[in-house]
Amino acid sequence: LTEQGVDEFALIQRYFQRPAQPTVALGIGDDAALIDPPAGHQLAICTDTLVAGRHFAPDAAGFDIGWKSLAVNLSDLAAMGAKPQSALLALTLPEADASWLKAFSEGFFALAEAHGVALIGGDTTRGPLSITVTAIGMVPSGRALRRDGARVGDMVCVTGTLGDAAAALSGIDSVAMAMRLHRPEPRVAAGALLREHASAAIDVSDGLLADLGHVCAASNVGADLRDDLLPASEALLAAVPDAGIRLRHQLGGDDYELCLCLPPDNVTAAIEALAAVGVPLHVIGRVAAEPGVRLRTADGTLMPQAHSGYKHFE
Ligand SMILES: [Mg+2]
Repeated sequence: LTEQGVDEFALIQRYFQRPAQPTVALGIGDDAALIDPPAGHQLAICTDTLVAGRHFAPDAAGFDIGWKSLAVNLSDLAAMGAKPQSALLALTLPEADASWLKAFSEGFFALAEAHGVALIGGDTTRGPLSITVTAIGMVPSGRALRRDGARVGDMVCVTGTLGDAAAALSGIDSVAMAMRLHRPEPRVAAGALLREHASAAIDVSDGLLADLGHVCAASNVGADLRDDLLPASEALLAAVPDAGIRLRHQLGGDDYELCLCLPPDNVTAAIEALAAVGVPLHVIGRVAAEPGVRLRTADGTLMPQAHSGYKHFE
């Protein structure tokens, strides 16, 4: 911990100290943490930054920011088929506000404890509010779900539903949709099961077309999607009856669902495996040789793609 007074140091420590975790050889308290990866496993490591005013409203609830800062990273691990193990947290704070820190830590640990994730280190700095989480997971060696495994003829599938988070962000007043935006549930169990079935995977964060585009580029393929097959929640169907507006939300991103490519023969088994953990899986299109991601209507008509996703540097 740096750049803070002694009182602030104690304050921050109070909210982020948790009992030692048996899965971690050495946690918080030394210069670095130590991890013994289980035999036959690789570490999967990812990091993501959330910036106030950019990724969340400056007045967003501390609990939600704590939850989401970890959730977006666990979603990336899920997309690799990795089991989350531990995380590091770098907090940049304008001030050490006790009530905010308490709420933030409660949100962070609510999700961490649900997935057996130990906080093994971190740093705090004074500055505009920004949160960087680094997450570490375990995956059987050589078995991770990668972006470069999609093959022509694979089916494109997506877990759960799309569009609730973007609809909530657009101002539609719905508790269910607000929960999808502020407290996304990373598809960890589904990701691990899909290692047996999928050829490639990514999580839907920037928007379906952009994220699937990354898979296609890495795999040197393209994809054709059907707009009428994109799954929507009951809440979204009720709140947004206009199919065109609904589609815009479904392509808007922040869903933290998994988008997969699967050999056609594996689709039924994958749907059954995910049903056992309560996660729906929907076929939404097919991998093709022609590069790029195309959205088509049921009769095959190409749709204009006005919404290819969140661009970080625009
Ligand atoms: Mg991702």
